[in-house]
Amino acid sequence: MGKKNIYILATGGTIAGRAASETATTGYQAGAIGVAELLAAVPELKAFANVRGEQIAAIDSKDMTSAIWLQLAKRCEEILSQDDIDGIVITHGTDTMEETGYFLNLTVHSDKPVVLTGAMRPATAVSADGPMNLLQAVRVAVADDAQGKGVLIVMNGTIVSAREAVKTHTTSLDTFKSPEIGDLGTVQDGEPVFYRQPLRRHTRESQFDVKGVQELPRVSILYAHADDDGFLVRATAEGGAKGIIYAGMGNGSIPERVEQELAQAVKQGIIVVRSTRSSAGRVTRAEASYEEHGFIGSDMLNPQKARVLLQLALLQTTDKEEICNIYHIY
Ligand code: ASP
Repeated sequence: MGKKNIYILATGGTIAGRAASETATTGYQAGAIGVAELLAAVPELKAFANVRGEQIAAIDSKDMTSAIWLQLAKRCEEILSQDDIDGIVITHGTDTMEETGYFLNLTVHSDKPVVLTGAMRPATAVSADGPMNLLQAVRVAVADDAQGKGVLIVMNGTIVSAREAVKTHTTSLDTFKSPEIGDLGTVQDGEPVFYRQPLRRHTRESQFDVKGVQELPRVSILYAHADDDGFLVRATAEGGAKGIIYAGMGNGSIPERVEQELAQAVKQGIIVVRSTRSSAGRVTRAEASYEEHGFIGSDMLNPQKARVLLQLALLQTTDKEEICNIYHIY
């Protein structure tokens, strides 16, 4: 059998970053290097796949927008519908990679692999990690075992489901982890090996379709802290938010004054989801009053992923029970 065809979608990030010196690993310009240069820097790719690509954006992923997510999802669907394309690798900044990955996990309807990768050191650094990450991502994208596993994040020799991946470290190369569930697999000496598969609904089975969607509903994330009096709940409600993700304490606990403001927001038709500022664990039923107000638990989704799911859910429904169910399925 001939080599598989992998399409690269470049969006910028540190993997395409240019710094002033070989020793600089901060203070560089993210997204400065184009897709052609990125691919040319890793000639080893040719041994494993026929690779070509296009530039979707050239940004530092801290500036990621839902407009780019919508564009990416549509482009992925177009490309993957072509018989002669076997998979996609998306190069992306690490700051919002987990959100983009989860968005695509919910909106791209294909069993063909979609793999996100990036780098923690700019392309100009000594021991840049981008080239190896790109090579590993392409090796995963051509692996038969990667099919039907949803969108994957491949960095530093680990394969993590986009649903569970979290950027856990500000600067370490080994930053993407799945604190609760663990990795899906590993890339050892260039060889991808899978040990598990995601069970939460994704890609081909997903009910979310963004064809024709021009923008996503406004959903805010509010972060719990001592002295929180709900001031920001009022501000975001007045600002027109359709949903609020409250990154509560521990098991999604909410300070009393905030709870009252959130209950008021629900009465105004805003959907309130309880997530957590803790780095791992599910948000389960806690106070009876939370259920009475109609707050929804985020299950195991961190605030930024709970936000993605709520934005998509709100395109289809504002029914609290339906949305609650969506958090159990995805
Ligand atoms: N700020 C960069 C970005 O997300 C960080 C990185 O790529 O690692 O684009």
